Amino acid sequence: MLAKNPNGFFLMVESGLIDKYAHALDFDRAVYDTIMLDNAVRQTKEWAKARGDDTLILVVADHNHPNSLIGTMNDDMKSVPNVPMRERVGTYEKAGFPNYPAPDAEGYPNRVDVSRRLAIFSAAAPDYYETFRPKLDAPNLPAVEGADKTTFVANEKYKDVPGAMLRFGNLPAMMNASVHSGEDVILTATGPGAERVHGSMDNTEVFRVMVEALGLGSE
Ligand SMILES: [Zn+2]
Repeated sequence: MLAKNPNGFFLMVESGLIDKYAHALDFDRAVYDTIMLDNAVRQTKEWAKARGDDTLILVVADHNHPNSLIGTMNDDMKSVPNVPMRERVGTYEKAGFPNYPAPDAEGYPNRVDVSRRLAIFSAAAPDYYETFRPKLDAPNLPAVEGADKTTFVANEKYKDVPGAMLRFGNLPAMMNASVHSGEDVILTATGPGAERVHGSMDNTEVFRVMVEALGLGSE
């Protein structure tokens, strides 16, 4: 509908659940929503290509999270009997490759509770029980309101998950989720004006790239 305007258009689409699930330390769902964003970008690029590439497409995060992929969770680690979940975190050469089933037509594996899966952890968190497993029943809820109604405590729902361990947080107790972090983020661009996107840029420069692509204020 927007493309009917002969003067062009501006459309901003946010895949906001990546952020919300990252706050909740629910990394499986955050990755699924990243796949959804990837699908949206691919469809947009195909749409622009069919028009003759007259559309600037910018893909960028509005901030980072202190969450990183550090290896795999490996349930099949049989070297030690009854090995605690923590000892099943495979890093460096022990990480190997995850064994998710092949992705479906939209790019999603049809299950995430496989025996060797992504190990993603946050560097900023409230007190919470780390289960080292995807939350299949409902999105993760790491901390809940404490008895004093002003601070949050680790959610006991996950306490008895086999191998779960209490991880003490490093955020104020009045916070129930992880937070944003200050790294530079990646900005990718295709289409007219994309050549202006390179190197290290202030975010205010991105505004100029967009304004010029729209033909506004060039005088
Ligand atoms: Zn956020």
